[in-house]
Amino acid sequence: MKPKAIRGMNDILPQATSSWRHLETVVLELVESYGYREIRLPLLEYTELFARSIGEVTDIVEKEMYSFADRNGESLTLRPEATAGMVRAGITNGLFHNQRQKLWTMGPMFRYEKPQRGRYRQFHQIDVEAMGYDGPDVDAELIIMSARMWRRLGISRVQLELNSLGMPQSRARHRDALVDYFSAVKNQLDDDSIRRLAKNPLRILDSKNPALQDLIEGAPRMLDYLDDECQAHFLQLRELLDAAGVQYRVNPRLVRGLDYYNRTVFEWVTDALGAQGAVCSGGRYDGLVEKVGGRATPAIGWAMGVERLVALFEACGGQAPAATPDVYVVAVGEAATSASFTLAETLRDELPDCGIELNLGGGGFKAQMKRADKSGAGWVVILGDEEVQRGEAGLKPLRTGGDQLSVDVGQLAETLGRYLNRR
Ligand code: ATP
Ligand code: MG
Repeated sequence: MKPKAIRGMNDILPQATSSWRHLETVVLELVESYGYREIRLPLLEYTELFARSIGEVTDIVEKEMYSFADRNGESLTLRPEATAGMVRAGITNGLFHNQRQKLWTMGPMFRYEKPQRGRYRQFHQIDVEAMGYDGPDVDAELIIMSARMWRRLGISRVQLELNSLGMPQSRARHRDALVDYFSAVKNQLDDDSIRRLAKNPLRILDSKNPALQDLIEGAPRMLDYLDDECQAHFLQLRELLDAAGVQYRVNPRLVRGLDYYNRTVFEWVTDALGAQGAVCSGGRYDGLVEKVGGRATPAIGWAMGVERLVALFEACGGQAPAATPDVYVVAVGEAATSASFTLAETLRDELPDCGIELNLGGGGFKAQMKRADKSGAGWVVILGDEEVQRGEAGLKPLRTGGDQLSVDVGQLAETLGRYLNRR
């Protein structure tokens, strides 16, 4: 019987990884060009960190975390998202003391969800966070940066949704209004929502139950409860986005799935991926650092789902440059085969920027040429025992249909370098 992978956890195969690498490279180069620096974090944290930061009454903490007791009996959890660990690391390492930090990280996240297209149990995020900035300039810049990212990637089918969740004080009044509103229609709610009505009514707005969408549509809007400062923050953000030509739709229902957000929240959504339309989501979380045990530090960030980004890139007709060698070396005959090994290493010395693949495991000329073709290389170097005796090698372009040349072995690297335009 074939061994099975765990449900919802994917192998990312070689034919997919060039897209992944291309997208990661473009995105991360852009993010670094805005001044963000990489931080690498553990995949495991104490369970308590996530319960405290994401919120007890959220889908993630209530039913999606991979938690277990380690051999010492401590409850640990595979990270379901990156922000909590980032905040924890910043406090642990004193990164927020009289400093501001612009950080990015990337890697797998784990949520016990129902696997479906675009929704997996191990998935990947690129995560960008600015800590110590109270905005709204940084809010705007983070969003403008993501808009530039779509342009760089040639992705057009995305729309920006924007909302403000205000501050805890004004949230309390909104919360009361939500409780009144949903209590009056309690018989139409599902079990999850009834439970949340008492504990965390804002979460009802994030319900994905289609039967509740009309009710949610009519619910009191946080935007109507914003205090003056939050209103000014939101207005300035909108002005900065307008000035940058970034279009958005204010969506008063956008609340996000984690409790720690306040003020600005946003989501880039697409119609190209079916039900799983959120590609890049983020928001401000001014209270989180203090909640996790640090000094009050305003902060904002976004996370992008890499699986969804790859799917969207492909849906928009994007094609990543294929990972292929530049040169494939074939050799027929005993002397040639042994010479080819040295020759390939010499070429790698002389042309360190080029990909040189050597035919391994012998084979006839035809079979080797087939492999050369399949490798995607632009050039093939051909060695036979006679060529080796003459101190020559055959050189043939594989994609342009040109003739085979005979080149002095001592000149081969230079000739190839010239043809490959890399020297
Ligand atoms: P959704 O509403 O689709 O469940 P979310 O609000 O839970 O998303 P976040 O926690 O904000 O998502 O994560 C940021 C991004 O990570 C999402 O916009 C999405 O692209 C991606 N993402 C979240 N959960 C998954 C998952 N289970 N599988 C694949 N990608 C995911
Ligand atoms: Mg979710």
